[in-house]
Amino acid sequence: MKSPHLGAWLWPDWRPHPRVRVVVTTRIGDISPPPWQGVNLGLNTGDDPERVRAAREKVHAGLATARAPAWLRQVHGTGVVEADDHEPEADGVWTAQPGRPCGVLTADCLPVLLARTDGSAVGAFHAGWRGLQAGILNAAVETLAPEGEALAAWLGPCICRRCYQVGKDVYQAFTASDAGAKSAFDADPEPGHWRADLHHLAHLFLRRLGVTAIERDGHCTVCHNHLLYSHRKEGSTGRFASLIWLE
Ligand SMILES: [Zn+2]
Repeated sequence: MKSPHLGAWLWPDWRPHPRVRVVVTTRIGDISPPPWQGVNLGLNTGDDPERVRAAREKVHAGLATARAPAWLRQVHGTGVVEADDHEPEADGVWTAQPGRPCGVLTADCLPVLLARTDGSAVGAFHAGWRGLQAGILNAAVETLAPEGEALAAWLGPCICRRCYQVGKDVYQAFTASDAGAKSAFDADPEPGHWRADLHHLAHLFLRRLGVTAIERDGHCTVCHNHLLYSHRKEGSTGRFASLIWLE
């Protein structure tokens, strides 16, 4: 069993504070066989949990942080928890402790990393369309900035606007009572379908919540499927991690 290739990880040039570090793992490496091919960090993907645990241990070793990353059992909801070792059911995790990475696992959904610009706390949030619509970013901002502390956001790799076809249910969930959200959708050649932009929706919602320092990654899980996992493209597959921590 070989290690994941740390050199193949994505190291975003986003440094909202000198103490804040971020990384996105890729599938590049040789731990799980197809259909998870590569470095799968997601339990409940049908993969052998021992391989997933081995991959997570190698990620921790690669990060060389004092504590192991805090993972979540993600449910497309709005629960936010403080980082610990118990992998609770939630879609957001935050910490004020140095050396404790917060991670979310995705394969098309949007990872959102947030940091207080004074470097005192960070968090990772899982934002697929259901979570965005349910208000995961409201919960994120309420948790990290209860007194209106300044936040900066980084939007990670997800399925892109050209690749993400959605039906009327998704379009209406966002636009029925929010005309402003229509700018996140393009008409699709297939009747009753649209192309949706998760980055655009997150950007819109964060700005409404007072977060204006927002940067985004340029990778798409489908367009860059050799690096990242895509549930939409592959069906049963693995998960990569977006991680944020305080040095
Ligand atoms: Zn794409």
